[in-house]
Amino acid sequence: MDKTLKLYNSITRTIDIFTPRKGNEVKMYICGPTVYDSSHIGHARTYVMFDVIRRVLSDYLKYNVRFVMNITDIDDKIIARANETGASMEEVTRKYTEEFFEDMKTLNVRSPSFVTFVTSYVDKIVKFIEKLEANGLAYESRGSVYFDLNSYQQRYSYPLFKSKDGINSEGDENKDKRSPCDFVLWKRSKENEPRYESKWGHGRPGWHIECSVMSSDILGEDLDIHAGGVDLAFPHHENEIAQCQAYFMQEPWVKCFLHTGHLNISGLKMSKSLKNFTTIKEALKTISPRQLRVLFLHHQWNKDMNYEKEHLKFAETIEKKIFNFMSVAESMRKNALAFETLENADREVLRELGNVQEAVHAALLDNVDTPAVMKRIVEMINFTNARIKTISPSTVLVVKDYIKEITDVLGLSEEERQESPGEDLIAQLLSNFRESIREMARRKEPYSKFLEKCDWIRESIKDYGYIIEDNSEGSILRKK
Ligand code: AMP
Ligand code: ZN
Repeated sequence: MDKTLKLYNSITRTIDIFTPRKGNEVKMYICGPTVYDSSHIGHARTYVMFDVIRRVLSDYLKYNVRFVMNITDIDDKIIARANETGASMEEVTRKYTEEFFEDMKTLNVRSPSFVTFVTSYVDKIVKFIEKLEANGLAYESRGSVYFDLNSYQQRYSYPLFKSKDGINSEGDENKDKRSPCDFVLWKRSKENEPRYESKWGHGRPGWHIECSVMSSDILGEDLDIHAGGVDLAFPHHENEIAQCQAYFMQEPWVKCFLHTGHLNISGLKMSKSLKNFTTIKEALKTISPRQLRVLFLHHQWNKDMNYEKEHLKFAETIEKKIFNFMSVAESMRKNALAFETLENADREVLRELGNVQEAVHAALLDNVDTPAVMKRIVEMINFTNARIKTISPSTVLVVKDYIKEITDVLGLSEEERQESPGEDLIAQLLSNFRESIREMARRKEPYSKFLEKCDWIRESIKDYGYIIEDNSEGSILRKK
C-alpha cells in the first residue's frame, strides 16, 4: 500500500510529504489545555481532529505512534481562578483536568500514550534553563530569567511562523529584559503566588519552556510532529523551537508542525479569555458526540471553521444515513450466502466500491482530507441504497464492512479500544508522580494535601489500565 502521506506543515507553509525520522516510529507531541475552566467546542475540534490524524497514522498507515500531551497546571489564569473562587490551585487544576479527560472520553478521543503535568516537572525545567543560561542563551534579571533572542538569532533561524517585525512584541514595557523580543523562562513569584526554589530565588516556570522540557524528556531530542491550534504557532511554538534548538544545539527540532484552524462561533473567534465560548457539555445538549465529530470531519482540519446552528441538522442527517445503512446491512447478514452468483447490479456496486476505495485512500493521504472522505462514503451509501433491492446481501455487506473500516479510522465507531501504555511509559508516569510528591514535601504542604494527591494518583492510574492495591507490606501496581 502506498503510504505517502502529505500534510500541511506550518513551518514550510506547504503540503509536504511526511516521513518519520526513524523507521515506523512517529513521535507526536500535542499542547494540552490550561486547566482553569471547562473545555469548549474549540478545544473539542482541535483534539478530535488530532485524534483523527493520529488514527490515520496508527490504524490506517500502521505507524507506531507515541502521542504525548501536557497539562498546563501552573499559569496566571489558574492563579486568578483560584483567587476568584477561594479554591486552592490544586483544586482548580484537578477539577478541570478530570473534566477535560471526561469530555475527551465522551468525544471518543483516544487517551494520549502519555500525559505530563508542569507541577511534576519544575526541577527538570530549572535544569533546562540553567543549561541555556550557561550557554549564553538566557540571562537573569531581578529574579526572573529571560531567553536572549539576539544571541540565539546569531546561531539559528528565527522567526519561522511570523515576520521579523511581529516577534514577541508582547510585554515590551518590561524593563527587566535586554530586548523587547526576549521572552520569560522563569518568573519571579509575587507574594501569594505559587513558588518553587531555584538558584535565581523563588519563582515559577514561564509557559513556553514547559512544552520544550516535557516533550524532550519523554520523546527525546527531536519530534516528528508537533501539534496544536493555530493560535499557538506564535509566540508559543516559535519560542519552544528556539529553546529546544538552543538546548540541543541542533536544528530542526521538529520537521512538521500541524496547526488546526480556529473554530469561530457566529463569525467571532471563540476563546476562554473572550468568554464567548460554548462548553463541550453545553454543546452536547443539542448534538450527540458522534454528530459533533461528523460536523468536524466536514471541515478541513487546518482551515478555520464556523460553528453554526444550521450545521447541526446536517450532521445529524449524515450520521443517521451512515449508521442506518450499517445496521440495515448488518440485519441482512443472516441471509448472506458464502458463495453467490453476481448479477450485473452487484458487479456495478462492487466496481463503484473499488473507485470509492481508491478515492478515499487518496483523500486520506492528501493532507487527511476528511471532507472528501465523508463525501465519498455518503455517495457510496446512496449508490448502494438505490440498488439495495436488486443486489445480494453479500454485496451490501462488502460495502458495509468497508464503510465500517473507514468510520473506525475516523473515530466514529462506538466501541473503542484504548491503547494500553507500555511499561516504560508507566514507569515514567510513576516517576512524575514521585516528583510531584517530593515537590509538595519541599513546599511543606499539609498532610491532607498529600492524601488528596494520593487519591488523585490512584484515579489517574486507572485511566491507564492499572490499579494500585494496598496490602500489609505496602502498595503494588496491578494491571486492571
Ligand atoms: P488552551 O487551553 O486555551 O491553551 O487551548 C488548548 C488547545 O485548544 C490549544 O491547542 C488551542 O490552540 C486550542 N484551541 C483553543 N481555542 C480554540 C478554538 N476556538 N478553535 C480551535 N482550537 C482552539
Ligand atoms: Zn505547548
